Amino acid sequence: MARYHIETYGCTSNRGESREIERRLRDAGHYRVDGPEAADVAILNTCTVVEKTEDNMRRRAAELADETADLFVTGCMALAQGEEFAGLDAEVLHWDEVPEAVTNGECPTTTPDATPILDGVVGILPIARGCMSDCSYCITKHATGKIDSPPIEENLEKARALVEAGAREIRVTGQDTGVYGWDTGERSLHTLLERICAIEGDFRVRVGMANPKGVHGIREELAEVFASEEKLYDFLHAPVQSGSNDVLGDMRRQHQVREFREIVETFDAALEYWTLSTDFIVGFPTETDRDHERSMDLIRETQPEKLNVTRFSKRPGTDAAEMKGLGGQLKKDRSSAMTDLKMEIVGDAYEAMVGEVRENALVVEEGTGDSVKCRDSAYRQLIVRNASEYGLEPGAFVDLEVTSHNTVYAFATPV
Ligand code: SF4
Repeated sequence: MARYHIETYGCTSNRGESREIERRLRDAGHYRVDGPEAADVAILNTCTVVEKTEDNMRRRAAELADETADLFVTGCMALAQGEEFAGLDAEVLHWDEVPEAVTNGECPTTTPDATPILDGVVGILPIARGCMSDCSYCITKHATGKIDSPPIEENLEKARALVEAGAREIRVTGQDTGVYGWDTGERSLHTLLERICAIEGDFRVRVGMANPKGVHGIREELAEVFASEEKLYDFLHAPVQSGSNDVLGDMRRQHQVREFREIVETFDAALEYWTLSTDFIVGFPTETDRDHERSMDLIRETQPEKLNVTRFSKRPGTDAAEMKGLGGQLKKDRSSAMTDLKMEIVGDAYEAMVGEVRENALVVEEGTGDSVKCRDSAYRQLIVRNASEYGLEPGAFVDLEVTSHNTVYAFATPV
């Protein structure tokens, strides 16, 4: 988990986006510190309203790049004039990509002992703490240890309480949900999901990050549950991290590329419309040009509709931090090549949705201005503008026609 420092400039829209970044970072177990000196990561949410502000942004970015190990620059100036930050050791990102970049390929930290959180109509249900891995770049593991899975009944009770409290979307979270039950001798994520879906009520369930090793062992059972349970979003987040078995070995990930491919094949065979979400770490110390090409090929082959690209950065106290790192420019080049490919693939996936009707999409939360964010059956994000005209509020289910898209979102209107 990382300590972060965040600075936000400009309008209420920027402030709203920073709030969302912070909310996601909090859910992933990261925490805010005051001042860049105490932080592992700094986030600069920029504004570009007048020249004086731009000068200020350039100066501040240069200072933060000097003061912290990692700097992520987002907001209006970053997106409109990203080249202004090219000379700095900083990564320019859309605000939506910042939480994953901070997470740096590690799994979220969860606290299953805590009371489940209801945030609007979204209920967060941590089902277990810990994982079964020992990834060489991960610092989270030191804090959380081996998987500790509470019994299914205990999690069910919490899920029921969330539904009764008004949750319309239950997010099943954990550092690695795919290994739920391994410590008790039963690989039981699919059973837990089936039983949560059997709870009476009108709600959706989203499964959080599940590493490929755990998913692979139960892929058939999981795909069957996804195919048969309407309440379950057809969305799988399985972070593969590299398309090279050599790099996966050095990362001490437990899976091989073949296992990831087999998961995708199994889900493709069982589900007509679903979302594959995965993560890649670019520029791991031992990654060669050929390894990078293998990752690019794996993306082309599996076509993930959601892809998080993280440039490798050292976390103190990890084994990977002791390895001789690659040059900053090389990491930047590989990261932009992968981001370009991501934009192409994800953009195509959203383009293919235009003109289609998505039934029973859930209005999950309010967006910026008079808009709402909705999720369809595959957890794709659909934005409805002028929401008050349609009387749409979080918690409602609505049929939507997709009208256009914006790479990682689609825009839609009620039908
Ligand atoms: S699976 Fe790997 S990255 Fe995730 S918490 Fe465990 S050791 Fe860390």
